[in-house]
Amino acid sequence: MKDKTEFCVECGSYNIEYVTGPEVVKVRGDEITVNASYWVCKDCNVEFENLCDGNDYLAEAYKIYRKKHNMLQPEEIKALRLKYDLTQVELAQILGWGLATLSRYEKGSLQDFAHDKILKLLKKEPITLLQLLSNDVPDILGKTKYEKVKSLCENMIRIKYKCNDCYQSILDSINSEVYAI
Ligand SMILES: [Zn+2]
Repeated sequence: MKDKTEFCVECGSYNIEYVTGPEVVKVRGDEITVNASYWVCKDCNVEFENLCDGNDYLAEAYKIYRKKHNMLQPEEIKALRLKYDLTQVELAQILGWGLATLSRYEKGSLQDFAHDKILKLLKKEPITLLQLLSNDVPDILGKTKYEKVKSLCENMIRIKYKCNDCYQSILDSINSEVYAI
């Protein structure tokens, strides 16, 4: 996307051209090819980024990297948090993360592998949150919210396993699976 950049940042010339093409970006040692766009000054040959979309191809590189490594995308992280009716601060506290961490991930920062692992577990198994809640979380969420989120999880588990009567045995069997990972 073009923005209002209309002159060369180096020499001030208006004789500039908007160029798009593949560019290799290094992400944690992986070489990721993205479509980059930048300006070229025809007078002094300087290349410079569009100030507005300077971060776009890094975001694109992260997206490709996450896909390649089977990691959650920012919108999936946000969706899973909302599924449990939690704010960024609440989920960060439940997980014992810094308060800004989740916010950064939802905005597009590349998450740690360890953090991605627990987020994927949360996405796949509502039991994971139930376990985290059962530890020390009532104080973080407050009693009312805690009960609400807890029953949300329990309903998800019942729906997922289509089981109303054998809830405890399902819970036990998943317990051992979760801890085995
Ligand atoms: Zn120039």
